[in-house]
Amino acid sequence: MSWRFTPWDFEVATQTRERYGAKKMAGLQLQDWGVTYDEMEPFYDRFERIAGTSGYAGNLNGEKRTGGNVFEGARKRDYPTPPLKDTHWMSKYRKTTENMGYHPFTVPAGNLSQAYVNPLGVSMGPCTYCGFCDFHGCGNFSKSSPQACILPVLMRRPNFTLLTETEVLHAVKHEDGKTVKGVKFVTQDGVEGFQPADVVCFTAYQMDNVRLMLLSGVGEKYDPLIGRGTIGRNYNYQTCSSVTGFFDNEYMNPFIGGGALAVQIDDFNGDNFDHSDLDFIGGAGIMGFSPMAVRFNMNGLRPAPNAGEAMEGRLCA
Ligand SMILES: Cc1cc2nc3c(=O)[nH]c(=O)nc-3n(C[C@H](O)[C@H](O)[C@H](O)COP(=O)(O)OP(=O)(O)OC[C@H]3O[C@@H](n4cnc5c(N)ncnc54)[C@H](O)[C@@H]3O)c2cc1C
Ligand code: SF4
Repeated sequence: MSWRFTPWDFEVATQTRERYGAKKMAGLQLQDWGVTYDEMEPFYDRFERIAGTSGYAGNLNGEKRTGGNVFEGARKRDYPTPPLKDTHWMSKYRKTTENMGYHPFTVPAGNLSQAYVNPLGVSMGPCTYCGFCDFHGCGNFSKSSPQACILPVLMRRPNFTLLTETEVLHAVKHEDGKTVKGVKFVTQDGVEGFQPADVVCFTAYQMDNVRLMLLSGVGEKYDPLIGRGTIGRNYNYQTCSSVTGFFDNEYMNPFIGGGALAVQIDDFNGDNFDHSDLDFIGGAGIMGFSPMAVRFNMNGLRPAPNAGEAMEGRLCA
């Protein structure tokens, strides 16, 4: 699912203060990002072009468009590929939420709805709705993973080397103790090496970024007792909850799916509703989605009539 932050996400402190007053922020560690949605828009656009993101703009230069997410920040142009098609379950969710007065939209997806050549010249194939990619790679070049849409181009450049099966242990500092001069790494054979660099980026994902920065002595470690320091502060991840619906006498065909195949409403997300009488800020998107179409992922669902004991055995193995 290929989301952009909303304008509110970038300025949560300012906008909360302006709409509800400073009292609403009591006890919360709220801070603006320091960049705004409008400043980030061209970079989101560039990312989506490279990824081939499928979707339908709900806010095109300020014009709200039914069928897209009318709560999103303004886009300068539409998605590079059209939205994915509805499964039966998605149509049901879309119709139901529409009838309730909400604003359903197809979730922008890194599963490509049609064949596409990105601005780097990489060809990608149309998604076949096989549903394999929720937790796995796509053999069809239809998922916007870096190895599908960026790395093939980078690897052709003479000044680019990709070291696989190699782990960075920590960054190495200059004698001044303030800047770094490279990283120390170890290969799968246990051989250690040093990679000199003018610039070192920590992109090992936030948990490992924190670990690497602490091991490298970079930045000030967060101390929760006195609230000082930034490294490790406010760590969090996705908090999701879900329900599974069962419908008598209806075929949902869950073998059709995609990692990001979903319909969502954002009517209860961010600051899209009035929080004046509520003791929280923020919210969540609520979606009906069709992922995990592969059999071994369907262990939360009722067994199909022909699944049988053999399947159960495999699920438990
Ligand atoms: C199953 C699943 C589904 C998700 N679905 C979505 C979704 O639909 N939409 C969405 O927005 N987000 C989704 N997320 C979250 C999203 O994938 C992550 O937030 C995002 O990939 C983080 O990107 P990153 O570049 O920071 O880190 P990563 O993508 O995790 O990349 C970090 C890389 O650094 C490498 N690395 C780590 N430590 C070292 C080291 N010491 N030395 C060398 N290399 C190292 C890792 O091998 C990895 O390749 C999903 C996550 C999961 C697990
Ligand atoms: S559902 Fe996922 S794995 Fe299957 S073709 Fe589409 S992108 Fe690839």
